[in-house]
Amino acid sequence: MRFRSINPPRQAGVSLFDAVLRGAAPDGGLYVPVTIPQLGRAFFERIRSLSFPEICLEVSRAVLGEDVPDAALQEIVNSALDFPVPLVRLSSSLSILELFHGPTLAFKDFGARFMARLMAHLVCDLPRELTVLVATSGDTGSAVAHAYLGTPRIRVVILYPSGRVSEAQEKQFTTLGQNIFALEISGAFDDCQRLVKQALADAELNKKLPLSSANSINVARLIPQMFYYFSGYAQLPDTGAGPVFAVPSGNFGNLTAGLMARRMGLPAAHFLAATNANDEVPEFLRSGCFVPRASRTTLSTAMDVGNPSNFARMLDLYGGDVAAMRKDIWARSVNDEQTQRTMREVHERFGYLLDPHTAVGFTAWEIFQKEQKSPNSGVVLATAHPAKFAEVVERATGTRPAMPERLSASLVKPKRATPLPAQFAALREFLLS
Ligand SMILES: *Cc1c(COP(=O)(O)O)cnc(C)c1O
Repeated sequence: MRFRSINPPRQAGVSLFDAVLRGAAPDGGLYVPVTIPQLGRAFFERIRSLSFPEICLEVSRAVLGEDVPDAALQEIVNSALDFPVPLVRLSSSLSILELFHGPTLAFKDFGARFMARLMAHLVCDLPRELTVLVATSGDTGSAVAHAYLGTPRIRVVILYPSGRVSEAQEKQFTTLGQNIFALEISGAFDDCQRLVKQALADAELNKKLPLSSANSINVARLIPQMFYYFSGYAQLPDTGAGPVFAVPSGNFGNLTAGLMARRMGLPAAHFLAATNANDEVPEFLRSGCFVPRASRTTLSTAMDVGNPSNFARMLDLYGGDVAAMRKDIWARSVNDEQTQRTMREVHERFGYLLDPHTAVGFTAWEIFQKEQKSPNSGVVLATAHPAKFAEVVERATGTRPAMPERLSASLVKPKRATPLPAQFAALREFLLS
C-alpha cells in the first residue's frame, strides 16, 4: 500500500513506513492511501460469523498485507484489540456501539493501541530512539500514553491545554512515568496542535531528533478505526438495508475512517457528522465554505475543535465535491442544553447512561430520524464511558455512573507535567534538552 499527500501536485506514493513515521508529508499535507482496497462480497457474506479479531485481521490484511508479514499483523491485532465492542440494542431501529471498553475507556484506544504496535514493528531496526509527539484535548493523550507505555525505543511527549481537560483525563496521562512525558501548555488545544505540526515540519529539528506524531493526523490511527464500523454492521440483523452511523466528531478522524470503510465496501446508508457548538463542518456542508475558527468550550470537551485536522482528508476523499459529500454525510451541531436533555431523556427512557460526546451523536440521530423519516436503523457510536465525565452525567441525569477500577486507580497517583508557554521555541528547547 502506498500513501500520498493530499496537497497538490499529485506525487508518487510513499511507503507505509514513511507515512506512519512522518505523520504528515514534507509538504505539510496529510497522508491518504493512493488507492483504497475493496473487500469482496464473500467477506460480507461471512462477516456475521466472524469474531471481532477476525474482522480486524481481514480488514488489516487488505490494507497492510503487502507491507506487514501476516504473523506480525496477527500479533498487532490480537494484542491491540483485546477488548469487546458490544452493540447494545435500545430498540428495533436504534443501537449503541460501545467503543469504550479499552484500557482508557474511550474509542481512541483503538487507534492508539494499533498505531503503537504498528510503529514498534516498523522501528524495530532504526538506529535511534523515536520521539512521538501528540496534542490532546483529553482522550487522545490518555489513550496514546497507555498504548505506548513501556514501548522500547519510543519516547512519547504529550501536549495538552492547561485547565481544559478533566482531572480524570489529566491523571491518565500525567501519572504514568517511564517513556511518557506530559507538557501542560498555557493555551487551547488548537495551540497544542499547531505546535506539534510546527515541530514535525521543522527540518532542522528533525535532523537532530527522529520525530513522529500520534495525532489523528497519523494514517495509522485511521486504519483500526475502520474495524468497528464493520463489527457494528456485522452485529446487526441482516435486513438488506445498510445502517446509519451517528458519529460524535471533533477532529473528524472517526468519521473519516467510517467513510473509508464505506469505500472498502461497507454497506452504510449514511453518516451523521454530529458536532457540539464547534460547527465548522455542518456549516461547510450547508454553505460550501469552510471557515475554521477558534474552538469554543462545551460539555463534550474532546470535541472542542475549531479547525478539525481530518477535514482536508474528508474533502480529498470526495475530490472536493460538496454535493457528493452531502449525499453521504448529514451534519448537525448540537448545543450543550440539548446534549444534557438527551442524556436525561435517554436515561429515563432506556435506563442507559450516555457520556456527553455520545449524547451529541444520539441527538443528531434523533433529529435526522425526525426530519428524514429514515427507514434504516441507526448505530450511535459511543465514544467514551460515562464515568469519564461523571460530573456532567450526574448533573444531567441525577445518577452518578459507577467508576471502573482502571479509572480510579490513576486518580490517586501524583501528576507529573512540565508547564510550557504556547511557543514553538519553548517546545523545541524541551525536546532537545
Ligand atoms: C476524540 C473524541 C471524539 C472526537 O473524535 P474525532 O475522531 O476527533 O472526531 C469524540 N468523543 C470522544 C470521547 C473523544 O475522545
